[in-house]
Amino acid sequence: MARIVMKFGGTSMAGTERIRRVANIVRKQQARGHEVAVVVSAMAGETDRLVNFCREANPLYDPAEYDVVVASGEQVTSGLLALTLQSLGCQARSWLGWQMPVRTIEAHAKARIEDIEAEALIAAMAAGEIAVIPGFQGVSDAGRITTLGRGGSDTSAVAVAAAIRADRCDIYTDVDGVYTTDPRIVAKAHKLKAVTYEEMLELASVGAKVLQTRSVGLAMKEGVRVQVLSSFVGDDAIPADDIPGTLIVSEDEMNALVEKGDMERQHVTGIAHDKNEAKIILTRVPDRPGSVAHIFEPLAKASINVDMIIQNVGRDKGETDVTFTVPQSDLARAQALLEDRREDIGFNRLISDSKIAKISVVGVGMKSHAGVASTMFQSLADRGINIQAITTSEIKVSVLIDEDETELAVRVLHTAYGLDASDEVA
Ligand code: ADP
Ligand code: ASP
Ligand code: MG
Repeated sequence: MARIVMKFGGTSMAGTERIRRVANIVRKQQARGHEVAVVVSAMAGETDRLVNFCREANPLYDPAEYDVVVASGEQVTSGLLALTLQSLGCQARSWLGWQMPVRTIEAHAKARIEDIEAEALIAAMAAGEIAVIPGFQGVSDAGRITTLGRGGSDTSAVAVAAAIRADRCDIYTDVDGVYTTDPRIVAKAHKLKAVTYEEMLELASVGAKVLQTRSVGLAMKEGVRVQVLSSFVGDDAIPADDIPGTLIVSEDEMNALVEKGDMERQHVTGIAHDKNEAKIILTRVPDRPGSVAHIFEPLAKASINVDMIIQNVGRDKGETDVTFTVPQSDLARAQALLEDRREDIGFNRLISDSKIAKISVVGVGMKSHAGVASTMFQSLADRGINIQAITTSEIKVSVLIDEDETELAVRVLHTAYGLDASDEVA
């Protein structure tokens, strides 16, 4: 007997018919003799709808009230799933964020889980009850509802799995695992049997939205065994115990899989893209100590994350251009903050561009293999795709390109690194 957390995303929970299918998967998993807790997202599109209501009600909305509104989507689906499970003859009840409780820091709309009180839940599961938990929500010390940032139900699931010391955390979604790249963009993407925590963390942070970045970091820290798999299976499908999806594994486990011949070690494991960044260029910034600090200090104070930064070589007259990227959703605020400090910083023009995309190649194989970056630059150059900025880490190379060239770039790189499905990679 195992203790299993099963998480179902928005498309899996979109409507009562889909919820019935989810209930059937959950019922069969429990019928294998396991203790089961289920974490659910709001129905697909519901959180966007609720966010829009907040914007319409008050464009400068109070994040604490925003949380009250957006957390409701998961309240609906958790109640509906408990009802559906009951209709199938299972014992089930919902556990809202304040009832377990899931304690988070005060940061509304982007809260972090600090601790989960799971004793009552563990006792209920041991007594044969299926626990249904709304993802995405928690409660602050002040007793108010918080939410964990978009895609946060993945993190709820991993945190619950850590708190109840689950044997596995199965993340059910609308694809049957983690692929070499978004399978909705590249038809030749292939499913990976396993991917390391480190690679998944990097892939998620550069745009592979199949798992929220924080959920992978937490799983790595707490040693939670995560599997990504599809909920879009027939009612007669076998339960997930036989690992049909993608497992997130440690490097040691990966090495063992490679030795057994179950996985082939590639220099590049996956490719991700992110269209949600925007580029800012400040021209003719004084080329002297302190200039760059003047630019980034106000952005940091406003919690605006700066990603890529390029400072060009100083031109004549001790001036230089500084280029960097920020999340598109923060572009207007960043522009306003920089314009306010035009005098202090001393730039000439502020040019912004939202029509950009970041393309990243990720793989632990890069640590020991040179030439990954040059393959990327050459393959893009061969297709006439211009690179506007570059960043690297130990296991990742990212480039900034024109947004219109995103799909082409991802496909070209997928082929260049030998990842196309027909290339027979494990
Ligand atoms: P959920 O609603 O279940 O949380 P998401 O939409 O957040 O689902 O994540 C699943 C989606 O992630 C897939 O439909 C797929 O388009 C996208 N995706 C992006 N990159 C990858 C990848 N490398 N492997 C699998 N899916 C990916
Ligand atoms: N419903 C939330 C969102 O859409 C959380 C989640 O689904 O993970 O962001
Ligand atoms: Mg998601």
